[in-house]
Amino acid sequence: MQRITIAKGDGIGPEIMDATLRILKAANARIEWDEINIGEKLYLTGNTSGIDKQAWEKIIGNKVFLKAPITTPQGGGYKSLNVTMRKTLGLYANIRPCKSFHPFVATKHPEMDVVIIRENEEDLYAGIEHRQTEEVVQCLKLISRPGCEKIIRYAFEYAKLYKRKKVSCFVKDNIMKLTDGLFHKIFKEIAAEYPDIETDNWIIDIGAARLADTPEIFDVIVTSNLYGDVISDIAAQITGSVGLAGSANIGQKCAMFEAIHGSAPPIAGQNVANPSGLLRAAVMMLSHIGQQDIAEVVKNAWACAIEEGIHTADIYKEGISNQLVGTKEFAQAVIDRIGKQPSIIPVADYEKDVQLLIPTYTRKKAAKKVLKGVDMFVDWKGLEINELAESLQKLNNGIELTMITNRGVKVWPNGFDETFCTDHWRCRYEVADDKAVPKSYIPELLTRAIGAKIDVIKTENLYEFDGEKGFSLGQGQ
Ligand code: NAD
Repeated sequence: MQRITIAKGDGIGPEIMDATLRILKAANARIEWDEINIGEKLYLTGNTSGIDKQAWEKIIGNKVFLKAPITTPQGGGYKSLNVTMRKTLGLYANIRPCKSFHPFVATKHPEMDVVIIRENEEDLYAGIEHRQTEEVVQCLKLISRPGCEKIIRYAFEYAKLYKRKKVSCFVKDNIMKLTDGLFHKIFKEIAAEYPDIETDNWIIDIGAARLADTPEIFDVIVTSNLYGDVISDIAAQITGSVGLAGSANIGQKCAMFEAIHGSAPPIAGQNVANPSGLLRAAVMMLSHIGQQDIAEVVKNAWACAIEEGIHTADIYKEGISNQLVGTKEFAQAVIDRIGKQPSIIPVADYEKDVQLLIPTYTRKKAAKKVLKGVDMFVDWKGLEINELAESLQKLNNGIELTMITNRGVKVWPNGFDETFCTDHWRCRYEVADDKAVPKSYIPELLTRAIGAKIDVIKTENLYEFDGEKGFSLGQGQ
């Protein structure tokens, strides 16, 4: 008997969780559960994290967590509990299989069978945001070598285990050369270790377009957090409904299983939600905890109900479906088919575990890191850029002002009158190629700037690593 933690969540969460648990019980899953209260109810009592200490203890103690969707209140003050849990528990890999069930569920893509492997801990989901000037806010996109290595290796190991043929990388490294560039570079490094698996690389915009149009050309897709979030909703929706897809969030110590969709407040409490996403997540969970036999029984009973056209409203279609049912009735239909085999939908391939063993990250040999300059960000409301440049040049303490940009585009020297500027300026000081900047220069520069009443809002150091620039050029530089 395995003890797990469950949370019924918000919106449609309690309905789809009750349906899922009824099916698991009827299939004799060897599980017992502790229920925790997280999400909206806690947010509304003033707990801005949406989770309390007791709930954390249960999740960490049981290690396996089946979670219904949570509503994240919009606006400032509340952090997304989903993101907090994935990161706090080190659940670095988010596995989202999106498969169509043609001819039983209406879809324009009968051949589709894509697994999206989404990085789960970093990227823009670091949630590090700042308002820096009256007009400009920023969000930091953090991509790390360990983060990329873990998720990309997971994707290749997954492809190997499940005999998938191809792994595709989705990035935007034509624009984000350092962050997405690192993801792509590590993808190429790791791909070389798996010569039997075909690989390709897609710029996210055309990759997403092809995924929506011709998903059958994809097999396993590995991508960073935000892109993975967006494309997995698209992929699930075009299989027939976002309500069909489940996901596993896997870490070294814990795992969390959930539907990919949210709490769908407009349809909550009406017994219309499709519980399939959470149920299929539960099937992944059963496989993860070594109950492949039950996983198979549940998956097959579910497939029989789908094949017989017993459909909830999101996938019900005249001519294809036979019976429109609510959440509870769908659960009953699955229970009634326990022990049956579907005729076409493939029998479950859950004989293996999704807990793949990924070697722990070992830090690379340190590169030679040389400080080459500093980007000083300034809040300035003037109009004549030469005025700003002149006052910045006067601060020169051995490091040359080489460039000013506004929202990334070069406006000095030789800017264009046409360029629209905000009150947020990046002012780059650099030394010649063969020189290095002593670190003390930066506080000295800042002290002079304060003396000259320049409103500095932040600085970023410009480093070279083994002679390779660790910073991007200005657009137009
Ligand atoms: P959503 O996925 O909750 O719902 C969008 C629409 O999809 C719904 O209105 C409904 O028409 C349909 N839908 C979703 N699930 C369905 C199901 N099981 N059966 C039938 N139809 C279904 O997305 P949203 O409206 O953007 O988000 C609502 C809330 O959920 C937000 O507070 C959001 O932050 C949260 N959310 C939570 C999670 C999570 O807990 N993992 C994930 C995504 C969104």
